Amino acid sequence: MSNFLQAVVGAFAADGVLATSTPNYQPRSGQNEMALAIAAVIEQGGELVVEAGTGVGKTYAYLIPVLLSGQRALISTATKALQDQLFSRDIPRLVTALGLPVKVALLKGRGSYLCLQRLEQARQGHEASTRVYAQALSKIETWSHATKTGDLAELSGLDDRSPVIAWVTSTRDNCLGSQCPQFRACHVNLARKEAMASDVVVINHHLFFADLNVRESGMAELLPSVQAVVFDEAHQLNEIGIQFLGRHVSSGQLLELARDMLGAGLQWARGLVDWAMLANALEKSARDLRLTASHARAGARLSWTDAAPQDTDPQAWSLALAQLQLACQQALRALEAVLEMAPDFVRLHERVRLASELTAHFDQTCTPGSVRWVEVGAQIRLVESPLDIADAVQTHMIQDKPGPSSSTSSAGVRRAWVFTSATLGEDDNLRWFTEPCGLSAAQILRVVSPFDYAQQACFYVPVGMPRPNDESHIPTVALWVEKYARQLGGRTLVLTTTLNAMRLIGEALTAALGHSGELEVLVQGQGPKRRLMERFRQGTSGGEKGCVLVASASFWEGFDVPGEALQMVVIDKLPFPPPNDPLVQARSQRLELSGKSAFSDYSVPEAAIALKQGAGRLIRSESDQGILVVCDPRLTSMAYGRRLIASLPPMQKLSTELQFQSALDRLTKASTTDCL
Ligand code: SF4
Repeated sequence: MSNFLQAVVGAFAADGVLATSTPNYQPRSGQNEMALAIAAVIEQGGELVVEAGTGVGKTYAYLIPVLLSGQRALISTATKALQDQLFSRDIPRLVTALGLPVKVALLKGRGSYLCLQRLEQARQGHEASTRVYAQALSKIETWSHATKTGDLAELSGLDDRSPVIAWVTSTRDNCLGSQCPQFRACHVNLARKEAMASDVVVINHHLFFADLNVRESGMAELLPSVQAVVFDEAHQLNEIGIQFLGRHVSSGQLLELARDMLGAGLQWARGLVDWAMLANALEKSARDLRLTASHARAGARLSWTDAAPQDTDPQAWSLALAQLQLACQQALRALEAVLEMAPDFVRLHERVRLASELTAHFDQTCTPGSVRWVEVGAQIRLVESPLDIADAVQTHMIQDKPGPSSSTSSAGVRRAWVFTSATLGEDDNLRWFTEPCGLSAAQILRVVSPFDYAQQACFYVPVGMPRPNDESHIPTVALWVEKYARQLGGRTLVLTTTLNAMRLIGEALTAALGHSGELEVLVQGQGPKRRLMERFRQGTSGGEKGCVLVASASFWEGFDVPGEALQMVVIDKLPFPPPNDPLVQARSQRLELSGKSAFSDYSVPEAAIALKQGAGRLIRSESDQGILVVCDPRLTSMAYGRRLIASLPPMQKLSTELQFQSALDRLTKASTTDCL
């Protein structure tokens, strides 16, 4: 065993550095196994995929080998919350405990940093006169004098959905780059410089893929010098990756372009060109494109397999694209004539050229192996997406060409790629994750959770629950939760598969339990996510009322509530992917064409992973106790139900209402007893 591997083993030993620096530290064999596998791949290079069940301690299992290796490394997370936690809490603790001189940096996308130039513009803008806007702006301004990093996450109390954020952050389109008067003090540039000078850089998957595509954030310069890359929360890699590897253009983007062109034209070349006419033409063609989908409801994704998207008039669609092309061509000619008059025109020319290229691309047939759709909201967004990231992972990551700026380090060792998460598949090859990520040849390790699920948790499918396609299903789920959440005194998380179910169940529970003051009913979207999570975690401590939280989407994963604040997770129905979604349809079709079953090889594994993630909210520590309730009789009546149950941790099954009631009673009376 090499010195490096011995050092890793030593760090996790009963008398090692973790034991002396971490209160209540217990060596765990799964954590050891994972850390050694990661250390070995860092030493030899290659690809390792690790599924580590809840409670394994996977964060330390990859951080210790990375830090002890002395190699330059990137660590990428799916969420900014975990990115901040690694940088501010976990890594500093370990660096101190290990006594290593490691320089660590945090790097996010430009949208996370205050843009000093845009803050200056926002101060002078007419929105600054509105009360709400002025208050938020004044708070940001006060903080801007104190912050060293400009990372907006430091600003507590700023709602991450606030529209003010867009006014004080930059985009690739509106950043002035080296021409900016604030360039030297620019937080985005300083963060990139800091990253380039560091040993370990904590990034996020969005930044990683954005950079693979447009090479804008400095990550592209960083990667060649890095020996190890670890992706935590790797289960999100495929869905995040495809967002950045495809092509898209939106009418909102075009409207902004028209506004910027008019502003710069009047400022730097007034009278030389009819800027108002050019901007109007671009604006009108963008609005006409939006109007082609005026009948569609907001939030719809229109599938687009023919010349025009579903339910749009093909003639109107093609005319709108042709007008857009014409408006872009006119703008390009005008900008070419004034290019040398101001740097703004160079940026604008580049933006219009890109918009023109994209419009022309969307006027042609879809790229083979990709899928197109149109997203409808206040604006319209045209999207072409690859079905997965497999090609990009192979071409731009794993097979990155050898050489001084590629995957071979100075010592001639291949780069190490580690992908980890609590949920990566339902079979031993983790095919759900490895196939779409192009990692079928990677080394696989599955480390099971150390929790005793059979003793700590039960699962139950309520007897007599209607099937989800029955119109009485949602009201029945709401009544069921009302009855049993009342008995449990809150402590219930309801996870829904649709926003509609979330709204209806939320309204029913608020009317039945919230208005009377019996329990506090929280519904996703009522306030900032962070505030809802904090309130729910607080539970009844401090004399607060018991809580029920009704949520969808992002609460299915990454929401950690150890202790008694959460003892019952209710899932409204099996989380199959929506069959009408264009991406789901394209993936299903590809499988059918290759002789596989879309249901068995795609829909069931997707549902299994989502179910496992939702169920994973229940037991977060060795002393947690709880019940998982799935309000979908298909779980016990259909053949695929057995496969879904097998993918869950080995919880005790409750078959009758009596069994459920007595398990609930035990939780209610003595939530700290050691078994249900
Ligand atoms: S360089 Fe770009 S991001 Fe930085 S302050 Fe200027 S406009 Fe903002």
